[in-house]
Amino acid sequence: MGKASKDKRDIYYRKAKEEGWRARSAFKLIQIDDVFNIFEGVKHVVDLCAAPGSWSQVLSRKLYLPAVAKAEQIQQDDLPKIVAVDLQPMAPIEGVIQIQGDITREATAAEVISYFGGEPADLVVSDGAPDVTGMHDMDEFVQAQLILAALVIVTHVLRPHGTFIAKVFRGKEVDLLYSQLKVFFTDVTIAKPKSSRNSSVESFVVCQNFSPPEGFRPDQLRDLLESGSQEAYEAGISPIIPFVACGDLSGWDADQSYDLPAEGYVRAASTLEGVKRAAPPPAITLTDKALAHLRRLQSDSGGSQLLLRIGVKS
Ligand code: SAM
Repeated sequence: MGKASKDKRDIYYRKAKEEGWRARSAFKLIQIDDVFNIFEGVKHVVDLCAAPGSWSQVLSRKLYLPAVAKAEQIQQDDLPKIVAVDLQPMAPIEGVIQIQGDITREATAAEVISYFGGEPADLVVSDGAPDVTGMHDMDEFVQAQLILAALVIVTHVLRPHGTFIAKVFRGKEVDLLYSQLKVFFTDVTIAKPKSSRNSSVESFVVCQNFSPPEGFRPDQLRDLLESGSQEAYEAGISPIIPFVACGDLSGWDADQSYDLPAEGYVRAASTLEGVKRAAPPPAITLTDKALAHLRRLQSDSGGSQLLLRIGVKS
């Protein structure tokens, strides 16, 4: 099956179209919020590596648009401020200030900071991913560099006790990264949203309660990371980081393909019917005979993906 048709069977891809999100990634941030309540009391946010913009849309819909709806007279200064950065340009989103730039460059960090006019951010999110080379160690390294670049910005803009969320690739060096994050945050948790495929090495670090070491200055960041956490890591003192699965575990599964509605996919806000039709299939128990038959079919198919359509008699 080609990639396009597989994508259309992906329930989060279809839900994203139905709900007007630019990417299925929106559900990852929403499911992280369901567990960690990351938007409570938040007025200033930085969205790093934001294109095409589904996380910025979530921020706009959860923070900016409700504030505009509530305000009797709109005072720009009182509204939530959302600053989004990416190498790529992205289409405008209401209430989101966009910067096109590289987050690993100091000039970009300075520009982000300038938009907050001296006021700190409550939340920094980063969904950064490099162009994947397929060389796992290299991809993990570049990903870790992106998180460190995000951390530089965090140390400049985040308020004490603020929250930082970043995508990580679980690999050999991930313990070092957790040790580095623990230098700055008292609570670090790994989150795996239901909308993130189990087959993907991606997960998210949710770093809460920003508490940099006393007397810390952002220009000391690299030295600090290279000394303290590296030594602890090399001495085998790796922190124990809790792992949390986010999202309704009995609900939609990102690793499953769901049947398309008979007449194909319909993009509309009013496709409630379509949503109903695409409900997850009920669990069924196969008899030994049926199982043997399926195994035979699978081996006949030469290991290629086997799609089943099962009629259930009531
Ligand atoms: N959160 C986004 C959304 O919901 O639409 C999706 C982000 S996408 C998975 C990863 C993004 O990281 C890409 O748009 C890419 O351009 C961006 N990126 C990678 N390296 C970057 C860098 N050094 N500076 C800024 N953006 C970067």
